[in-house]
Amino acid sequence: MYKVTRGIVLRETKYKESDKILTVLTQNEGKMTVLARGARGKKSKIGAASQLMAYSDMTMFERAGKWMMTDASTIELFEGTQKDIESFALGTYFLELTEFVSDEDSPNPEILSLLLNTLYVLSREMRSKALIKAVFELRMMCLSGFAPMLERCEICGKYDEKNAFLYIHGGTLRCADHSKGELSCMPLCKDSLAAMRYIVNAESRKIFSFQLSKEAEKRLSEVCEAYVYAQLERRFKTLDFYKSIQLLSTEK
Ligand SMILES: [Zn+2]
Repeated sequence: MYKVTRGIVLRETKYKESDKILTVLTQNEGKMTVLARGARGKKSKIGAASQLMAYSDMTMFERAGKWMMTDASTIELFEGTQKDIESFALGTYFLELTEFVSDEDSPNPEILSLLLNTLYVLSREMRSKALIKAVFELRMMCLSGFAPMLERCEICGKYDEKNAFLYIHGGTLRCADHSKGELSCMPLCKDSLAAMRYIVNAESRKIFSFQLSKEAEKRLSEVCEAYVYAQLERRFKTLDFYKSIQLLSTEK
């Protein structure tokens, strides 16, 4: 049986002499494992579509529950992410996080669209990497059922946006009094809190359209990264790699 669907390659594994096994997030079928036969050969017509981050129209053939990509036409390769290793590393973290929260047989167009939108902004360097990463992480958490509650202190109901903290294990807001001595409470400020509220509530095509000072951006990015870790209870190898490259480039 043949199927045509749009999809983006989240992971590639070399297989046999010239094949690849791909993990693809598709528009119609959710996450799929697909054999790309001959994809590593020089003359392969599916070579470009079988690379990491490639977004394509894919023709798939199914036999005995296994899928094989027989033809593809690329739509967007996000080539801008290959200009520097830091962008590429960050892009692969977005792929790994997406793979982790996506299910097979269960299409989630909002998750696919967030990934495509984020890679577009990253590959064209439209915002800083720290901001792109924070927006992606927080919005992905919302789409995966971990939207934080950002109204007022969950314990006393106090509304003090200048001294607010995010309790990262609960995904809730705390005031200064109710954060004391609590290591899982991370400090926000008026602007980083406003940015979080914006990212949670904005229309999907406007999620990157806000301004933030460098200081508030730093706070936002620390909180968003810690929030993903606290909620998913998992480290991502690609994130560790991205951070190790960042360290190297700041030491220069
Ligand atoms: Zn309180």
